Amino acid sequence: MENETGGVRPVGASAGSTGKVASVDPPVSSPVSSSVSPTVSKAWARARAGLRSEFGDEAFRSWIGPLTLEAVRGSTAILSIKSRFLRDWVSSNYRDRILGHFNGEMPAIEAVDLVAKVSAPEAGAPRAGEARSPARPDAAAHEDEADSTPSLPLEPRYTFDSFVVGKPNELAYAAAQRVADSEDIPFNPLFIHGGVGLGKTHLMHAMAWRIRERTPWRRVAYISAEKFMHRFVQALRFNDTLSFKDQFRSVDVLMVDDIQFIAGKDATQEEFFHTFNALMDERRQVVVSADKSPSELSGIEERLISRFNWGLVADVHPTTYELRLGILQAKASTMDCRFPDKVLEFIAHKIQSNVRELEGALNRMAAHASLVGRTLTIEMAADVLKDVLRANERHITIEEIQRSVCAHFNIKMTDMSSARRARAVARPRQIAMYLAKMLTSRSLPEIGRKFGNRDHTTVMHAVRKIEELRAIDPSINEDVEILIRTLRG
Ligand code: ADP
Ligand code: MG
Repeated sequence: MENETGGVRPVGASAGSTGKVASVDPPVSSPVSSSVSPTVSKAWARARAGLRSEFGDEAFRSWIGPLTLEAVRGSTAILSIKSRFLRDWVSSNYRDRILGHFNGEMPAIEAVDLVAKVSAPEAGAPRAGEARSPARPDAAAHEDEADSTPSLPLEPRYTFDSFVVGKPNELAYAAAQRVADSEDIPFNPLFIHGGVGLGKTHLMHAMAWRIRERTPWRRVAYISAEKFMHRFVQALRFNDTLSFKDQFRSVDVLMVDDIQFIAGKDATQEEFFHTFNALMDERRQVVVSADKSPSELSGIEERLISRFNWGLVADVHPTTYELRLGILQAKASTMDCRFPDKVLEFIAHKIQSNVRELEGALNRMAAHASLVGRTLTIEMAADVLKDVLRANERHITIEEIQRSVCAHFNIKMTDMSSARRARAVARPRQIAMYLAKMLTSRSLPEIGRKFGNRDHTTVMHAVRKIEELRAIDPSINEDVEILIRTLRG
């Protein structure tokens, strides 16, 4: 195996930085290809200087010094290095920081691709069992190989430590930790699903950070389904699907975020299916996230759905008041201004949609407070957050209604769209339809579609039936009232 790293540690990576003392750098001669513009090459030189002071001279000499800036394509900087081993090592240990520094010097650079500029013998020697592609029409003079860990950059804030755990997300959190902390494969795949802004991406990044930290030799690739498709389409366009396949099939852990994106995109699904199977066959960890559970995903092939169910399916539920308050307190404690408890309670009570909005609300209030020097009070919150609060009042989704109804009657989400007619599920389903009509602005056909493609007349019938029952059956009336109260918060 060419990325055999037995015992090698990134030299100096943790050996205390050289600090600011000797900050007079020897003239940084950055190897840069002649096709790179002077502005970019200066930014690269500054990024290199930053990397040197972060990692120290020795690590710099071994790993970062040998990089050559080949080109910038779009927002991606292409860096080359002499061997595949170096490329893999630098890629898994330094790539995020290289991007961090480069992007800091030049915000237009949003990605870094590392390629191995392999000298003839190594390039000509296919790995055992690997079929070489016939000479590619676009093959360059030297063999460039795309980076073998096709990961997107990770957000430094998204760690397990900064994730606040509560009832709604404890299962997903525990599952994510278990996967990240085990060297074997506890369940495969791990499928995390839940509504928007509830922490799925945060958890995936946290896993990737943890795995890279604990087992740096494992190659972790985190990518959104959208980017996956984008790369696949590029590969098709440039007749380069072999190296695309190779990239994704050579990782140890593959995480694909927002898989619902590939719904209806048949070729991408097909490709993903094969990648997925190849990795599962070799006992590599796969982690997938989506906005719905496998069985609720539409536009995705049955065979893929059934494979998603092989492992562990963990859902992230909508936040509760306690969790929202916890998240607000955690977030507020990292900010400069002091939020009185009453204000945090007010926000936790009023903003129920998702965590992103909670964070947005705090940032907005902090900005106001510092700009106009207002003290943070409930009145100020009500004023500054007017529009958000109004949107939160109005916005109840059919999905939330279904979830609440299922939780209340202790039935499964799939019963909302199933054809089962047993009273124990049919009645709650009718109540959910009734609430959807009452609490959202959706039309009858739209509501019908969300309940397993039922006809609008079925919805109409349900609405009438529940109205009737509310008038004569106090226990049903009470159920409905409790649900309305829960949903309106
Ligand atoms: P999703 O991918 O589910 O749409 P994200 O992971 O992007 O949601 O989360 C949205 C924002 O909310 C992020 O800034 C994330 O850090 C934050 N967030 C979500 N859940 C939590 C949590 N339990 N604790 C702390 N922050 C959270
Ligand atoms: Mg996300």
